[in-house]
Amino acid sequence: MLKKSVYQTVAPDSVIRLQKVNKWYGEFHVLKDINLDVKKGEKIVICGPSGSGKSTMIRCINHLEEHQLGQITVAGTELTEDLKNIELVRREVGMCFQHFNLFPHLTVLENCTLAPIWVKKIPRKEAEELAINYLKRVRIAEQAHKFPGQLSGGQQQRVAIARSLCMQPQVMLFDEPTSALDPEMVREVLDVMVELASDGMTMLCVTHEMGFAREVADRVIFMDAGEIIEQNSPEEFFSNPQFDRTQNFLQQII
Ligand code: ADP
Ligand code: MG
Repeated sequence: MLKKSVYQTVAPDSVIRLQKVNKWYGEFHVLKDINLDVKKGEKIVICGPSGSGKSTMIRCINHLEEHQLGQITVAGTELTEDLKNIELVRREVGMCFQHFNLFPHLTVLENCTLAPIWVKKIPRKEAEELAINYLKRVRIAEQAHKFPGQLSGGQQQRVAIARSLCMQPQVMLFDEPTSALDPEMVREVLDVMVELASDGMTMLCVTHEMGFAREVADRVIFMDAGEIIEQNSPEEFFSNPQFDRTQNFLQQII
């Protein structure tokens, strides 16, 4: 008999695939038959009202939350209960949250080298060189020896992005990375994300920064009540929303 491989066959250019994904919190049906295919290099913006399941969907993709039905495949590996698969997927997926989640007792540089050294077993010196490179890319290398608490929110978020990049992931997930920032710091984080996008990173971003969506997204996805209601190119999505729910949402945020 053919032994079931841990690898799922997906189109080679598909980095993330969700097929009929369903999730419940107790009785509450939070994700309903979510289908999503993210190609290599694609940039997707996800928007929708608070409570619509955006964070839950993003968190399922690196198994911070567990889905109960359907299939999630990331970089060729299907997320099952198998810890090996979860680990494989997490290596390929970088994540940035609203509240940066940096380790407060470690310096910026140590935040960036911890996982490469301990998870990827990269020699310290090499990990530090890699980290300095990414810290330069987010224009914060001069703060490498400070602690997160000594930096502004915008700086901390840029460090969080650099930290994720140090694992050299195939895809980056962002969950409202600018919504906890003071307004004057939003742009510096968005600029880094725009650069990352133009470098070809595959990105899935939950954000209500519609300027960013217009500038960067190949596709904008609108979620409501646990469902993907519609998805389209930014031009079509903003100028010609198909559903009342999308129109209402856009009226509120634009
Ligand atoms: P969004 O990111 O779109 O605001 P979430 O994915 O955070 O939405 O939440 C979707 C729904 O699931 C909300 O109604 C929220 O209250 C509920 N929810 C989120 N996390 C949990 C949890 N751990 N346990 C129970 N309910 C949750
Ligand atoms: Mg959320």
